[in-house]
Amino acid sequence: MESQQLHVVFVPFPTPGHMIPMIDTARLFAKHGVNVTIINTHANASTFQKSIDTDFNSGYSIKTQLIHFPSSQVGLPEGVENVKDGTNSEILGKIVQGILMLQDQIEILLQDLQPDCIITDMMYAWTVESAAKLNIPRIHFYSSSIFSNCASYLVRKYRPHDDLVSDTHKFTIPCLPHTIEMTPLMLADWIRTKNSATGSFGAIYESEKRSYGTLYNSFHELESDYEKLYKTTIGIKSWSMGPVSAWVNKDDEKIANRGDIGKEGELLNWLNSKPNESVLYVSFGSLTRLSHEQIVEIAYGLENSSHNFIWVVREKDKDDDGEGFLQGFEERMKESNKGYIIWNWAPQLLILDHHATGGIVTHCGWNSILESLSVGLPMIAWPMFAEQFYNEKLLVNVLKIGVSVGSKVNKFWSSVGEDELVRREEIVKAVEILMGRGEESKEMRMRARKLGDAAKRTIEKGGHSYNNLLQFIDELKSLKIARELEKSMLDN
Ligand code: UDP
Repeated sequence: MESQQLHVVFVPFPTPGHMIPMIDTARLFAKHGVNVTIINTHANASTFQKSIDTDFNSGYSIKTQLIHFPSSQVGLPEGVENVKDGTNSEILGKIVQGILMLQDQIEILLQDLQPDCIITDMMYAWTVESAAKLNIPRIHFYSSSIFSNCASYLVRKYRPHDDLVSDTHKFTIPCLPHTIEMTPLMLADWIRTKNSATGSFGAIYESEKRSYGTLYNSFHELESDYEKLYKTTIGIKSWSMGPVSAWVNKDDEKIANRGDIGKEGELLNWLNSKPNESVLYVSFGSLTRLSHEQIVEIAYGLENSSHNFIWVVREKDKDDDGEGFLQGFEERMKESNKGYIIWNWAPQLLILDHHATGGIVTHCGWNSILESLSVGLPMIAWPMFAEQFYNEKLLVNVLKIGVSVGSKVNKFWSSVGEDELVRREEIVKAVEILMGRGEESKEMRMRARKLGDAAKRTIEKGGHSYNNLLQFIDELKSLKIARELEKSMLDN
């Protein structure tokens, strides 16, 4: 019996936006009868191990296989193993170096484990070769929207931005079912510049093509046009089986397990004291670093708007915080009871799910988008880097559940120029549109609620995502049987 159970190994990439949805997905596989192994380093595993233990103790076949992060070899203190721990470029560089060094350990483990399939993060392009050696399928885990993957593919293929006279002029992305306009400044550096090297991204796109298929944390009702486009244009098999966070947490008594438990009581009291849908949740995800000038604009923008807010400020931002500006701001907000600052890491799911929360300012990280729309919240889109500008277009132009704040430049850890800052007036304007009582807000809210309902249905028995997961597991089982048959024929 044991040997007949499908064994799938998951290899997540150590950054919250990639790791969290993959762990949720792995847990869903285990809850549907698959024998699951997750490969990860100690400190990263410690952030989710509790849920794995709970699942295991409930009878599901799931475990974590630990590997060693080469801290001393790259000159990092123990426990600094996640991209989000990169508080400056030097540390970030060392973390990335350490992650690259994990390849040998992972390859040896895969040989030992002899799984039936590996589901690996898009960043681990080399796992396509590992799967080929084992003669098993490799599934490419793409941790953002199908829309963004399609848009990025079409921009790379047709380069509609190449002949513009200026980086601020608009181009239209060809072959999309919606009219999407962007400026070259909204594209990542490496694609913006003519003839620039694709670097590690080239290997990622190549590995996607050579994979058995791509797995998306999305759902049919959200991106059906783009599911179709992905299949017809890029020609790769794909499965949408999200939103995985809402699905895996559906039965959990406590969804707050990703936050700062110590302060949770205080935060909950604050939220409980606020009227329904009156609080704006402001978060720029796990990796963004803001300049002091931008922090000041955000602070005044929030203070000058007429709505309550929770703002998650990262420790990295504090480093750039000239003369304790944020400290003074926090004290003022405490006095007026208008704003609540969370330092570093927020229990995001708990906040989004609270009846007092009425909207979110998001950097357009895909997980935050999915988590917000799963509970029917509209958004202010403030993209910063990577594919986030594509996600903004999806929110604002396709789904029409978001207001753009007017972010202009795609930059990781930006020190954006004076004229590229998002000003306090623009922030106030977007907040008033989203949180106000105008028609635009009502319509966005209604559409977001509908998507929230669809998100709930798609993960129920008979829903699209539910069926996709089950059918995908069946397909992997058929592949396993075919492989074993082939092997026994060769052996005889
Ligand atoms: N997250 C959280 N608390 C925080 C910041 C982030 O729980 O203070 C979680 C968030 O709920 C999401 C993930 O971390 O699941 C961030 O992923 P996303 O794609 O939104 O953005 P990224 O951090 O990758 O830019």
